[in-house]
Amino acid sequence: MAGLKLEHIYKVYANGTKAVNDISLDIKNGEFIVFVGPSGCGKSTTLRMIAGLEDITAGELYIDSDIVNDVEPKDRDIAMVFQNYALYPHMTVFENMAFGLRLRHIPNDVIQEKVLWAADILGIKDYLDRKPRNMSGGQRQRVALGRSILRDPKVMLLDEPLSNLDAKLRTQMRTEIAKLHQKLKTTFIYVTHDQTEAMTLGDRVVVMKGGRIQQVDTPKNLYNYPSNKFVAGFIGTPQMNFFPVTLKRDGESVSVLFKDNDATLQVAYNKLIKVLPEYLDGAHNITLGIRCESVSVVEDNTEGSIKVKISHFEELGAECLIYGSIASDEENINSTKGQIIIRVNSVDNLQPGDVISCLFDMDKTYFFDADSEDEETIIPRIPTINTLDAAIKNNELHLLGNKLALPPILQTPDLQDGQLILPSDAVLLCHDGFKAKVEKIEVINKTRLVHLLAGDRIFFAIAKHEDVISEGEEISVGLDFTKLTLINKKDEAVMFSPIASLDAFDATFTNYQSVMTKSNNPEFSAYKDKKVAEVASKMDEKIKEAEDEFAKAKEELSTHDTAKELADKQAAYNKLCADNKAEIASTNAQYKADMKEINDTYNSAVKDAKEKNEALFKAKLEKEEVEFKTFKENNTDKEILKRRSDAYHMFKDNYHLDKENSLNLVLKGLNLDFESKVSTLEANKKRKVELLKKEISDAKADLKIAANPLAHLEKQHQARMKDLAKEKEEALLKASYIFFLEFANGYDDILAETISNKLIQGLGTRVFTKRYKVEMPHDGYVLSTDKGIEVVVENNLDYGETFFVRCSYDDNASERQYLYIKTNEAYTKGEKLRVTLDLEKSQITETDMNIRLY
Ligand code: ADP
Repeated sequence: MAGLKLEHIYKVYANGTKAVNDISLDIKNGEFIVFVGPSGCGKSTTLRMIAGLEDITAGELYIDSDIVNDVEPKDRDIAMVFQNYALYPHMTVFENMAFGLRLRHIPNDVIQEKVLWAADILGIKDYLDRKPRNMSGGQRQRVALGRSILRDPKVMLLDEPLSNLDAKLRTQMRTEIAKLHQKLKTTFIYVTHDQTEAMTLGDRVVVMKGGRIQQVDTPKNLYNYPSNKFVAGFIGTPQMNFFPVTLKRDGESVSVLFKDNDATLQVAYNKLIKVLPEYLDGAHNITLGIRCESVSVVEDNTEGSIKVKISHFEELGAECLIYGSIASDEENINSTKGQIIIRVNSVDNLQPGDVISCLFDMDKTYFFDADSEDEETIIPRIPTINTLDAAIKNNELHLLGNKLALPPILQTPDLQDGQLILPSDAVLLCHDGFKAKVEKIEVINKTRLVHLLAGDRIFFAIAKHEDVISEGEEISVGLDFTKLTLINKKDEAVMFSPIASLDAFDATFTNYQSVMTKSNNPEFSAYKDKKVAEVASKMDEKIKEAEDEFAKAKEELSTHDTAKELADKQAAYNKLCADNKAEIASTNAQYKADMKEINDTYNSAVKDAKEKNEALFKAKLEKEEVEFKTFKENNTDKEILKRRSDAYHMFKDNYHLDKENSLNLVLKGLNLDFESKVSTLEANKKRKVELLKKEISDAKADLKIAANPLAHLEKQHQARMKDLAKEKEEALLKASYIFFLEFANGYDDILAETISNKLIQGLGTRVFTKRYKVEMPHDGYVLSTDKGIEVVVENNLDYGETFFVRCSYDDNASERQYLYIKTNEAYTKGEKLRVTLDLEKSQITETDMNIRLY
């Protein structure tokens, strides 16, 4: 069992396809995670990277706490089940399942026990001697599952394991897989394009599209809180109904206007409290979504209902789907627009062409921003920003009926009609400021979203771990002024805005050789020498340890009575040989006897069948002769007689062929039975004999070691020393690769090993030709006297509790660039400083493909 962590994982194939684009995900120990999405969305690629079957272009994959990017698939302790089973056709089910265990030299009796255990769990105990080709798809998939669970993996990966099965079997196997997960409690990662499979199996489901994660959540939350239109449409059948609308707020009520047909609905504003006010202006393009079960048919002209004209029905047995079109009134129905599906229990008394009244369940109606790229929901579960009316007077911010002094850097001329954009995480709870009432605390995926009330307005804050608050309580609330934006509503001028959280620099990479030819900086060569020396000493230590271990093992061996051990082993070996050979002989004899019995049974059954068939057809012939004769005696009509005579001759013509066919059919059945018995018998015998022989060969190998234990020890040691020498050579070479970041402004810096390793992993040697963006947080600068980027102090930014120095520098661009240093002191304008970058705090992105590398 293990947990997994994917951090900013990318996959770019050699042909330039960006199959996986910045995936980050935490998978808990024992969790059942399903990746779902349309074909080509990158699910299999992600799974294959986890398995180690594809290189990871950028990002880190952790299993438990270890980074496994460079760990071989076989060493990851992961088992994978594919849709095409991948069983060995020439091996029996037993051998297919035992194969992995044999490779690991597990003793035969343990193998036997384990295979039986797995076969029992999966219900395939009766098929152990069959070959895969004699099994159904569902049975074969069970064998593949069995083989995987026998490896006792930390993680089970399943790539569309059921897609080759028919619908009924798929449903059955789905249940089996769910049960298997419950029994094993191993982490399962499952890929499918089938949303029903995803929703029924997953503890959490990852919905993907175009290489990106659209949403990760429990099936229930995906269904109830889709984060965008894609997820809303992908999850659930029939698909959610969508309509283009606009929303306009008027006090406590919001009108929903259907664009295609002028139908309208009213929603109480308190249901849209998390929506940003600008979406409620009657102009934004919004998509309304509602599932078929959230629409109900009501009495004609019920208040708040809208008209739907029925086009046709789809009966599903217990329930029925109504297909129709919506409109404001009966005249305004356009059957090609505003189409809707409604799920009802019965459609008695309804006809196609009828116009009915329908109510939308407003608690289950969704709204998406039709103009955003992914059509994001406009009702996020956790609103990231609040937009609030605000004014400025005498450098005080008037907000929610309160006055707050602006920090020095935000001093602003008076303003009547402003709008403050306040991120939810910029609201500081239990902090000096103004009073607000805690209306509600919602816990959403471990985040505490706090609904606050002040000046008659609800606004949102995200509680920090240490904030102690409870519902109904009045608390003091402050603002993080570094994150605020103030807009003048009249001319939309931005009065102040936050500084970006990162400063961006253009950069390229270079290696040790080229830097040395350019600058011959002794500091760099000293760094390299030190690194190489460190690696050399670490490796020498490892070699010494191996020598010590060898010496110890040799000494230990000298205390053994090797002659006696050899004699004991030889005796045990002789006995095993004799026993097993006798058993092989008796197995062969038993096999022969059994084979004879099967043959005899078969031959006698064939003889029997032939006799029975002969008798049967003889009787048939006699019966026909008698019947025909009687018919002829009792009928005179020529026409009738002719027809009967034709029938008689046809019977006679076909008689021999019918007889042969009938016999063949019986013989075929007997042959099948015979072959199956023979192959079972053969497989059983072969397995038993192989096991017995293997025991002998294992014992023989053991004996050989016992004959000269010292030689064996020495051989082992030599092989180990050879491996270590090779490891040392590679480590030294790697240590001498040093990478530098070259900034457009002339600054360059050695990259820490962790960073350079990631860059090499990401883009191989292409690292040197591409362009990169290095982004620094404001606390990532270190002031220096003699090195780093030369910057000029422009001004000090005093936010009250936080303080920045804004500096400019020359980046070979036409304009000077700016960076913000977080500090505690003020500097004089025009003062020249030098700053170096703490690159371990940076984010590095390759800009051509937009891949975050560090
Ligand atoms: P899914 O499993 O969701 O159907 P895949 O992970 O197989 O999707 O593929 C994601 C994208 O990567 C697709 O556009 C596919 O064509 C592309 N792709 C997959 N394998 C390769 C490959 N070996 N070389 C190039 N492109 C590939």
